[in-house]
Amino acid sequence: MIPDPGIRIGQGFDAHRFAPGRRLVLGGVHVPHEQGLLGHSDADVLAHAITDAVLGAMALGDLGTHFPPSDERWRDADSLGLLREACRLAAERGGRPVQVDAILFLEAPKIAPYVAVMRAQIAESMGLSVDAVSVKATTTEGMGFVGRGEGAAASAVVLMSVSREA
Ligand code: MG
Repeated sequence: MIPDPGIRIGQGFDAHRFAPGRRLVLGGVHVPHEQGLLGHSDADVLAHAITDAVLGAMALGDLGTHFPPSDERWRDADSLGLLREACRLAAERGGRPVQVDAILFLEAPKIAPYVAVMRAQIAESMGLSVDAVSVKATTTEGMGFVGRGEGAAASAVVLMSVSREA
């Protein structure tokens, strides 16, 4: 039973492997790099973590439930489209995103020049203002799969308000 008026929180995590010959897309932004992330969709690890957080806040399962890799519709899909769809599913249940805080974990490339555009793209996809979307980035100081440059990961927290009327 969702309290009314309700505030709900969701968290998301995702990781993808780097591979040559792929475009690197983070938060809907093409970031020039010698390799990209491998996945059935565009492998936008940041968008996936945020999408999972939206679904989690509404207890709607996860990304794989709604957008299975076995479904050809999602091949090379723009992951901001998946995020939009998750927000639509949430809206059907009265859920509206309020705020996002996300962290990218990657050793390279430096994404600082692209963060403003990522925030704008994510905000637009979720019907939020840019100042409600935070994107941060960190290395892991050379440790683990991120540190070795084998892949990138992202985590996100999304706050949702839920009204009973919807
Ligand atoms: Mg993913």
